[in-house]
Amino acid sequence: MHKFRKKRVVLIVTSAALIGALSFSTLLSDFALGDDTQKINDLTKQQQNLQNQIKDTKNDLKNTTIEKNKQLNQLNQINSNIDAAQNTIDSLAASITETENNIAAAENEIANKQRDYDGRMAIFCNRLKEMYEYGDMNYVDVLFQSSDFSDFLTRFEYLRYVADNDNKLLEEVVALRTSLEEQKNSLETQKTSLEAQKKQHEEKVAQLELASQEKEALVSQIKEDENSLYAMLDAMEEESDRIASNIAALQTSSGTAPAALMWPAPSSRYITSPYGPRTHPITKKQSIHTGIDIGAKYGTNILAAASGKVIVSTYNSSYGNYVVVDHGGGMSTLYAHMSKRSVGVGDNVSAGQVLGLVGSTGMSTGAHLHFEVRINGKHTKPNPYLGI
Ligand SMILES: [Zn+2]
Repeated sequence: MHKFRKKRVVLIVTSAALIGALSFSTLLSDFALGDDTQKINDLTKQQQNLQNQIKDTKNDLKNTTIEKNKQLNQLNQINSNIDAAQNTIDSLAASITETENNIAAAENEIANKQRDYDGRMAIFCNRLKEMYEYGDMNYVDVLFQSSDFSDFLTRFEYLRYVADNDNKLLEEVVALRTSLEEQKNSLETQKTSLEAQKKQHEEKVAQLELASQEKEALVSQIKEDENSLYAMLDAMEEESDRIASNIAALQTSSGTAPAALMWPAPSSRYITSPYGPRTHPITKKQSIHTGIDIGAKYGTNILAAASGKVIVSTYNSSYGNYVVVDHGGGMSTLYAHMSKRSVGVGDNVSAGQVLGLVGSTGMSTGAHLHFEVRINGKHTKPNPYLGI
């Protein structure tokens, strides 16, 4: 009975110790693994959120750029309208000056004509007075008072001249009068018309200048918005890089990095976009393409470029579904825009093992594999590793 009890106690103690040891070791490994996985997941989530923010900001930036361009075009249109109006006003001003000179000259001419008219009118009035005063005198009397034929002819010529002259004088006086009136009226009309046009154009310029001021204020506001958006974008990209380096810190640096990598998309060898600097098609902002794009067909296999351990298998708005494989020695490879992921964090993979399928998730315009090689988290040109 005693023996049995003792045996039982020993068994219980041993079991407890065993369970305790097991639990403790499980707990330890859980803690160690869970801690790292949790950190990676948290950081990946943070990165994902940042990528979403970057995407939103880029969209805002795109819309702002489009809006800004629209406003700038409007401003340019208004400026050219103002220029055209200014040219019209300048030529009108020149025309006004010319017309004013013409008016001055015409007024001078009118004054001279007026004097001429007044003089001729005075002569004409005297002739009328003479004819009235010598009303009984007729041309025949004048002729018969001739002393001889020569005198007769002289008198005859004289009388004809006087008669012609009277008619001519009258015609001249009337013509002069009419001409003077016409000239005065014409000048007045021209003056009035020019003044009206001048006023109209001045009003137009004032309107255009006001519109231009409004537009300029709007454009400067938009530029300000754009600058703050750029600042936000830069800050978030910096943060994203920092998190990427944290992920890199969590990968193992032990072992030796592979010197050569397998081609990760066996269905295609076509590189649609190389590694290196390129200009964003919308924002025109210079950025670096952190990997190579392989134009593989949708749904075809994506293979591990070398053996290693999966340290990231997630989705974010930029990379879409993507996987990072740690190859040891500080080297990792990244596979983005997958339509499907076939591996999870912690999986050990062999070279050539299927990681997922080609797709177009995230910031992608068509099915392709975005493939990156990273050394200690920092992207590098994959070409030498791939033998291209
Ligand atoms: Zn790419």
